[in-house]
Amino acid sequence: MSDPKNFINGAWTSSVDGGTLDVFEPATGAVIGQIVDSSQADVDAAVKAARDAFDTGAWGKTTAIERGRILQRFGDLILRDADRLAECEARDTGKPVTVARNDIIALARYFEFYGGAADKLHGETVPYLAGYTVTVIPEPHGVTGHILPWNYPAQMFGRTLAPALAVGNATVLKPAEDACATALLLAELATEAGFPAGAINVITGRGAASGAALAAHPGVDFMSFTGSPEVGQIIQKLCADHYITCTLELGGKSPQIVFADADLDAAVPVIVKAITQNSGQTCSAGSRLLVERSIYDAVVARLSEAFGKVRVGAPEADLDCGPIITAKQKTRVLGFIERAKAAGVQVLAEGQIAEGAPAEGFYVKPTLFGPTPRDSEIAREEVFGPVLVALPFDDEDDAIRLANDTDYGLVAAVWTRDGARQMRLGRKVRTGQLFVNCYGAGAGIELPFGGAGKSGHGREKGFAALHDFSKTKTTVFNHG
Ligand code: NAD
Repeated sequence: MSDPKNFINGAWTSSVDGGTLDVFEPATGAVIGQIVDSSQADVDAAVKAARDAFDTGAWGKTTAIERGRILQRFGDLILRDADRLAECEARDTGKPVTVARNDIIALARYFEFYGGAADKLHGETVPYLAGYTVTVIPEPHGVTGHILPWNYPAQMFGRTLAPALAVGNATVLKPAEDACATALLLAELATEAGFPAGAINVITGRGAASGAALAAHPGVDFMSFTGSPEVGQIIQKLCADHYITCTLELGGKSPQIVFADADLDAAVPVIVKAITQNSGQTCSAGSRLLVERSIYDAVVARLSEAFGKVRVGAPEADLDCGPIITAKQKTRVLGFIERAKAAGVQVLAEGQIAEGAPAEGFYVKPTLFGPTPRDSEIAREEVFGPVLVALPFDDEDDAIRLANDTDYGLVAAVWTRDGARQMRLGRKVRTGQLFVNCYGAGAGIELPFGGAGKSGHGREKGFAALHDFSKTKTTVFNHG
């Protein structure tokens, strides 16, 4: 974008202070444009637009049925424009083109799903004293702020905005400074779908500046944050300062637990995909493989073979993995790999960087590490790259202990044919989602998703998100 702008109150808007940031292409490392580096004044303008849309504007007057139609129309337009949106997303993030296209289809599904759900968030009546009727109804918070990371920019636009809008909130979104091109295209497309001015505002810029200003803004009634645990804590504190709540979708170190009776033909390809998908830059990546000791050698042998075939390249090469998002993030991922090697952890297998991948691009070889002490960095910390560590366990109790031996609790998988064991693990593993003989990094839009501990709190997706993006009002009628 040659002349960077925010999207505020239904119009492209120049930054008040004129600050800009460069945009880098992950596949080549080249600068491909600029975005606005929003200041407090830009955040003020976006929040005011949302406030007006909600308090006095057309958006605040929409019925649930009308909102449902607008959201569904937006989903249709996203599908209509899927090619150009996918191209933008692939270039901005480095994703293989097929992956980017699938992300756009998922984005459309968010607006289809929540468009359909908009008029299905019903209240209830509560039996009370004689002569009284009590209603409990869900209401929108008002203005919701949304801060996103860079790993699934398009999908997360839908994941956070669609339920918020379905309930009737007016929104201000700050995408990650490292990947915001698709969000800006979508903001304009939203107008064509029929969203009135101010319902969706998109401002770009650095987290510590415009992100913090948004979370601290007295005009914001609720915050939705997806990103790192460290910044999640900052957001929660900023929200507490003005007495609002937030959902935090943070990181993970999600275990795949493989018992000796597992169907390895089914498990192995899924385990590889769960860590290489999106180059491992997935909060719910299956990044810890826990294998019953009696089959450990057999499992890692099969995995090593599969890992060695994973290929990394530029988006248009359309291989298994693209580059890492930025030079800084690549350095961070390589740091984990180098420290594990230096600590003597065995590299069991590495994927390949395809011939022709641009030399200046941010490519990292997928890496499978062997056994390591359970308290080592690579066994406990989130790498956020294509790095899997395989640890043996002795029995079911040991598997549960090891699965829960992390500060995170986002997603887990258990691979076993023993139904009773499936149920026991389902009860005892600390996780927001548990997959049995399958794995989905967050999985479908219909399925509530969120974590415990350092993975955050609150639920996105499914009907659960509608509840988080609304608050209940109880009204007591005394009619004698
Ligand atoms: P990050 O926390 O650095 O940035 C996320 C967003 O927060 C960006 O928009 C950034 O500009 C903003 N931000 C940064 N500092 C801020 C501040 N002081 N105040 C307000 N906003 C601020 O994370 P990242 O590097 O973009 O993403 C990687 C991390 O996000 C990983 O830990 C990953 O696990 C996590 N993540 C979680 C999920 C999930 O759904 N649970 C999804 C994607 C990423």
